[in-house]
Amino acid sequence: MPAAPIYNRVALIGLGLIASSMAHAMRAHGLAGEIVGYAKTPETRATALDLFCDRVTDTAADAVRGADLVVLAVPVGAMGAIAAEIGPHLMAGATVTDVGSVKAAVVAAVAPHMPAGVHLIPGHPLAGTEYSGPRAGFASLFENRWWLLTPDVSSDAAAVARLSSLLAGMGAKIDTMDAQRHDLVLAVVSHTPHLIAYTMVGVADHLEQVSNSEVIQYSASGFRDFTRIAASDPTMWRDVFLTNKDAVLDILGRFTEELFALQRAIRMGDGPMLHDYFTHTRAIRRSIIEAGQDTAAPDFGRAPIPAPDQGTT
Ligand code: NAP
Repeated sequence: MPAAPIYNRVALIGLGLIASSMAHAMRAHGLAGEIVGYAKTPETRATALDLFCDRVTDTAADAVRGADLVVLAVPVGAMGAIAAEIGPHLMAGATVTDVGSVKAAVVAAVAPHMPAGVHLIPGHPLAGTEYSGPRAGFASLFENRWWLLTPDVSSDAAAVARLSSLLAGMGAKIDTMDAQRHDLVLAVVSHTPHLIAYTMVGVADHLEQVSNSEVIQYSASGFRDFTRIAASDPTMWRDVFLTNKDAVLDILGRFTEELFALQRAIRMGDGPMLHDYFTHTRAIRRSIIEAGQDTAAPDFGRAPIPAPDQGTT
């Protein structure tokens, strides 16, 4: 536990999976003096007060008063309106960060509302689950996971270092990059794969020859993982695609070209092409394991599914 909290008062705007996980982690490691929260509905605010906030408020403006760190943890499409509301109430010298999955659009929506003397340091934890809401959070969510920050050249180095020490205190690994670069990288590693998962689950759903029970009973790891990803929060993912449109469309265009090439190879019986392609992709998988980004255990290290009478909670 650090000798003293890194921030005296942290205001969490949005109290779902990411904010609740941050609150649990900050509490577990003594990183914040007071945690104040605001979310849209009274139900979420009441749950947050019960589980992880010292105080909740009826407006976002009230939550940020006197806070030296403000975290915007709402869907990306809601960030601009929240920033407009809190802007006039931010304390001089405060840091405002966000956890949105898209960066350039968030900066464009939030930055115009930041008064002089407030440090805007956008961020994105590469950690999450398919669950959402204030009950979904847990303290270890960010342990050993990347947290990308996208400060610009004018960002205050001391403010970036202070925020980084909070994130490191929650167990995250920190890297910084340009917002546009972030959006392209995430379009490749997260956003487009999510869209493919949504599509594949939709295909299975529309495939009338295969009954639902067969799809579920025989779902192997590929499809099972698709269903888990496709269960992610619809509002969050709608906003991701609407706000990272250019990068996702660029990657989807490339994806479609490669898909057509593979489709043609299958139609033409071009075994060498398929073998070469899969040999190359297998080498990429090996390099991900070597970089420590996944386990080499078979079936992705998945724990066996417990029998119904051994179910976990
Ligand atoms: P979540 O569990 O669905 O929670 C969203 C929270 O935002 C809820 O507390 C909701 O309040 C609140 N909210 C929504 N609109 C609001 C508004 N207009 N004003 C005030 N509060 C509002 O979402 P999450 O998974 O924590 O995601 C939050 C952010 O983190 C998103 O920007 C997402 O892109 C990013 N992110 C998510 C993941 C992930 O895997 N889930 C990973 C990395 C980053 P109510 O409950 O009262 O409606």
